[in-house]
Amino acid sequence: MFEYAPAPESRSVVDLKPSYGLFIDGRFVDPTDGGSFKSINPASEEVLAEIAEGGGQDVERAVRAARTAYDKVWGPMPGRDRAKYLFRIARIIQERSRELAVLESLDNGKPIKESRDVDLPLVAAHFFYYAGWADKLEHAGFGPDPKPLGVAAQVIPWNFPLLMLAWKIAPALAAGNTVVLKPAETTPLTALLFAEICQQADLPAGVVNIVTGAGDTGRALVEHPGVDKVAFTGSTEVGRAIARAVAGTRKKLTLELGGKAANIVFDDAPVDQAVEGIVNGIFFNQGHVCCAGSRLLVQESVADRVLESLKRRMARLRVGDPLDKNTDIGAINSAAQLARIRELSDAGSAEGAERWSPACELPERGFWFAPTIFTGVTQAHRIAREEIFGPVLSVLTFRTPAEAVEKANNTPYGLSAGIWTDKGSRILWTADRLRAGVVWANTFNKFDPTSPFGGYKESGYGREGGRHGLEGYLNV
Ligand code: NAD
Repeated sequence: MFEYAPAPESRSVVDLKPSYGLFIDGRFVDPTDGGSFKSINPASEEVLAEIAEGGGQDVERAVRAARTAYDKVWGPMPGRDRAKYLFRIARIIQERSRELAVLESLDNGKPIKESRDVDLPLVAAHFFYYAGWADKLEHAGFGPDPKPLGVAAQVIPWNFPLLMLAWKIAPALAAGNTVVLKPAETTPLTALLFAEICQQADLPAGVVNIVTGAGDTGRALVEHPGVDKVAFTGSTEVGRAIARAVAGTRKKLTLELGGKAANIVFDDAPVDQAVEGIVNGIFFNQGHVCCAGSRLLVQESVADRVLESLKRRMARLRVGDPLDKNTDIGAINSAAQLARIRELSDAGSAEGAERWSPACELPERGFWFAPTIFTGVTQAHRIAREEIFGPVLSVLTFRTPAEAVEKANNTPYGLSAGIWTDKGSRILWTADRLRAGVVWANTFNKFDPTSPFGGYKESGYGREGGRHGLEGYLNV
């Protein structure tokens, strides 16, 4: 066996400042009534930078700046001119993509090959795609002259920091809104670099405002009476609190929440291809993926073959330095998330499921979790019901297609699902019966800006991406 030589990506392309202010009205400013917190590299626990924490008055300043920009500049601006700014931002993202990818991997812990080859190309594609809509809104199917809503408050999670920012900001600006965005407290750095890109693109002041902070800052933002629209991606628990806070106001709300997707492998599926899909479904981005295929439903007659092949494949996954180009699985994003993954995995063992991980050496510093599968899982187990949001797969079996569908739908969530089979008719039959916003067939975790994404049930409401993604930002 040949060993891989280290292939680290250089971090010299990133110019980290020791501290960052809030980005309000086109400038970086100190917080008025907030404090500060540190953003760390989860792979080494090294402090990357000191970040401003926005307080109530800072949120007030940001919302006011967004309102003025909406009334005076962005709202009245013709769509074809808004498009020029969005195209410019998209091109700068492409030009600076290496810098953004390295910074994303440093702050989030995801492997560089994912931030470089998945996150960044999708971020740029999102801005290009919505730039194209900005002057064609009257053809989007929402009436002859659809109007923007005004000021959008946007709160995002840490698993795809820049991609979630793109999903939020690109459609909002294309539709003519201005925004105040709060990134997650563990991954604020690429959003702050995006603020610099807005300056570089000469985006008018106040159109995009970035207020960093934790849950209290997010709450102050979504509860601010001056916002017209709230867009949230994060946990179902916080989503519920936001829905309660917004109920009875005139604010329009979209929620993108958690998931517990079934990845269904039928007995006629090509096994090697399915195994690649299972690995991609649960180990991509350390399993920190809302639509992760975290429940494998495999037909009983092929279960042994699939599992044997899966274990062989998992033994080849390389866990370690996110900046190494050979790394498949990087660091867990935070100590808190690692504790949650451990707690749920321990519950899996305690409830009687059988746990397996390949032999793998984990670095001493930082937050790490070996890729893990549980077999012998039943529907009642916590690991079959709760979102683990880590590299942990629960394996269940089924005998008939009807049983597969019933088990797949037996969850409070409904974000995504996967189907592996040789037969087109079986794909259609199954997809028709699955209660999930996205159903992938013979593939998994494929994203495209032209395609709508969103949930059923406790996975949220509203759609992001595609023509549908404009609706949440228009007065229709
Ligand atoms: P989280 O809900 O804890 O935090 C998300 C964001 O909300 C953070 O920016 C946080 O600071 C902020 N926040 C926390 N409390 C708040 C409050 N009371 N009011 C306003 N804002 C508040 O979620 P997380 O742990 O960062 O992210 C993981 C979750 O996100 C998972 O459940 C995952 O499934 C979900 N997610 C969903 C999608 C999707 O598109 N459906 C995409 C990515 C992640």
